[in-house]
Amino acid sequence: MTGLTVSPSVPRKRRSNWQLLMANRLAAAGLFLFGFIALLAILAPVLPLPNPDITDQPNRLLPPLSDGHLLGTDHLGRDILARLIWGTQISLIVGISATALAAIFGSLIGLVAGYMRGATDTVLMRFVDMLMAFPYILLAIAIVAALGPGLLNALYAIAIVNIPFFARNIRGVTVSVRNREFVEAARLSGKSHPAILFTEVLPNVLPVIVITMSTTVGWMILETAGLSFLGLGAQPPTADLGSMLGQARAQLFTAPHASIIPGVMIFALVMSINLLGDGVRDVLDPRLRSGALDRPMAVTKIRRKAKPAPTIENAPSLVVEHLTTGFDDGGHLTPAVKGISFRLDKGECLGLIGESGSGKSVTALSLMGLVASPPGLITDGAVYIDGRDVLGLREQELIALRGARVSYVFQDPLTTLHPLYRVGEQVAEAILAHQAVGKSAAKTRAIALMETVGIRDAAERSRAYPHELSGGQRQRIGIAMALANDPDIIIADEPTTALDVTVQARILDLLQNLRRERGLALLLITHDFGVVAQVCDRVAVMKNGEIVEQGVTDTILRDPQHDYTKRLIACVPELGEGQRFLARVRPLFEEAGA
Ligand code: ADP
Ligand code: MG
Repeated sequence: MTGLTVSPSVPRKRRSNWQLLMANRLAAAGLFLFGFIALLAILAPVLPLPNPDITDQPNRLLPPLSDGHLLGTDHLGRDILARLIWGTQISLIVGISATALAAIFGSLIGLVAGYMRGATDTVLMRFVDMLMAFPYILLAIAIVAALGPGLLNALYAIAIVNIPFFARNIRGVTVSVRNREFVEAARLSGKSHPAILFTEVLPNVLPVIVITMSTTVGWMILETAGLSFLGLGAQPPTADLGSMLGQARAQLFTAPHASIIPGVMIFALVMSINLLGDGVRDVLDPRLRSGALDRPMAVTKIRRKAKPAPTIENAPSLVVEHLTTGFDDGGHLTPAVKGISFRLDKGECLGLIGESGSGKSVTALSLMGLVASPPGLITDGAVYIDGRDVLGLREQELIALRGARVSYVFQDPLTTLHPLYRVGEQVAEAILAHQAVGKSAAKTRAIALMETVGIRDAAERSRAYPHELSGGQRQRIGIAMALANDPDIIIADEPTTALDVTVQARILDLLQNLRRERGLALLLITHDFGVVAQVCDRVAVMKNGEIVEQGVTDTILRDPQHDYTKRLIACVPELGEGQRFLARVRPLFEEAGA
């Protein structure tokens, strides 16, 4: 626990983009290499370099480390180091300018096409398709041939052939953004189309533009070098990396250094930019934020202060002792679950109740080491299943318990079921994960399970995709998957919160019956005392990561001790209560200053 500070009051700081980028080692290496090369190129005028264009026939093709020529000389006796640094500068300027031009025009086309749709879209995108119909390097050569060889024309050619990449990418994103509610709202408020396009749509598309730029700039430098290599770009005596390579080609065997050196520079430049570009993309993609870049480990990181007893005697199904889980953000630990203890007997249902954010889900996930690490960290406590501390098990043993002895049912099955697989296959997959049975046997069992959880025409419905089922049916599939390997314990995290009341009642009935028939222990997480009253034998009330009260459901409902419990119970409205509900609940919250 050294080096970790615990501070419950300070909210967890989000890591800045810069920190995220630096956490990606490859991107950081790319940045430093690129920074170094760019610095050399920028400093070219002030570095003590000989004139790169002065020829010196007697000293032609000197090898590297010659007197006065660190990297040797080329076929006209010019200093290679000087030409390399100046050439890098030109390659960088051309590549970056071409990227900027392509980004501006391509994005504009994409934005307008995606926003206007209709005829404008068709005309613009068919133009883009026409550009894309030619192999781009051929197209670039054709454009330079028409405009005449030269660096500026090469720049235009490279920019033009890259416009389609931007236009297509940006159009796609724009189409999905233009139908969003906030754009609709802007339209309703009377904003003009250009205003909407630039103040509402553009900021949402900007990350995609930056990502496309950062991932194509290396490519464009390479294309520029290619044109110069063919003699269509930089014209003598000016050199860029491509023309240096092209001119040294004739001496490839007699003086290989003259071509290897610019070749290595092109490689280093393009690779560093691509590594950096990939890193920038990862940082800017909001889906990869908040820890996704850290690649979560298979099991939550466990660093317990004290080693608990590895086994306990005569234990019920599940015993949780002083479980403490927090989120570690670079040396800063924010606790989410603070030393909670509870137990669950065989065949019993324990309700874990508390408001949103009180740490219920973190508790549930901690039991099987499923909290994503980083940032998750279990700092204390033990979880005994059949008397064995699972947090002390080896990783593979713990993973083998998941889904077999202990299984989970989550809140929203639409997000936990795979959208592209039929539900029957997904139930079968849950069976195959732990049992050595054949595919068809697993399928037959899957259908039987679906019947068990009350899905009518199970054989037929097993061929449906998740989106073709109702919310209640989807949750039944979730329960069927949880039952797939005859677990002893089911942890249901708000299994009915996404459902309407009548479906909720049926799902709770189902869980209740399964529990009785199979002797399952059920940990039911909810924020609704109505649900607890209906199914749970005992209840634990959670607040701010602590259990403030636990006991037999009836006792607690009749005589709650803790203020928080009283308020939670008061929040269950009764049918036909009407305005009286507010009159009854309000004073409780005013008292508590909530
Ligand atoms: P709930 O009781 O609604 O299920 P949770 O257990 O999901 O609440 O969350 C408990 C606390 O832990 C919250 O304050 C939440 O902000 C925090 N938390 C949950 N997941 C993470 C995470 N991945 N990183 C940082 N904090 C988290
Ligand atoms: Mg939750």
